[in-house]
Amino acid sequence: MNEIERLITLLARLPGLGPRSARRAALQLIKRRESLLEPLAKAMDEAARTIRSCSACGNLDTADPCQICADERRDAATICVVEDVADLWALERTGAFRGLYHVLGGTLSAIDGVGPDELRIPALAARAAAEGVREVILATNLTVEGQTTAHYITEKLAGAEVSVTRLAHGVPVGGELDYLDDGTLTAALRARRTAEG
Ligand SMILES: [Zn+2]
Repeated sequence: MNEIERLITLLARLPGLGPRSARRAALQLIKRRESLLEPLAKAMDEAARTIRSCSACGNLDTADPCQICADERRDAATICVVEDVADLWALERTGAFRGLYHVLGGTLSAIDGVGPDELRIPALAARAAAEGVREVILATNLTVEGQTTAHYITEKLAGAEVSVTRLAHGVPVGGELDYLDDGTLTAALRARRTAEG
């Protein structure tokens, strides 16, 4: 496989890019070597070397703890649980949440062999039990998997001295946080309610 074919094959693996879009993207990159291809290659190289998971919350950043965990102006008494970093980004875009996060890295799935240990749920239980934590907001998606995961966490945290809440309805069923407009997401966050186990 030559370099151009390899570039196209790799680009075609990106979400939203099929083979045709990948060919177009590759051609643009090659034509714009100095303004696009070389800076992108450099940025990707740096990203691959420096970006890591925050050991506290699972966010992606070049620093560990991440900038959110390290920000003393944020409310450490409130932890918002999300499936993925994309959901964290969606909530950050709203600017409505000033607490900390816990990124699960997916949802429970018996079929795919994803259990609590794969989802950083033990780490969440440990954080929830820490002094000063008052509320855990479950912001998993309203899909079957997201709901199942939320129920599991609610039961897991039943003994802890924290209130466990869910985002309010208004989030469409099957909806993923990343696809919601900021207003809907902010409203769902403000109108959160106690989670049922
Ligand atoms: Zn963090």
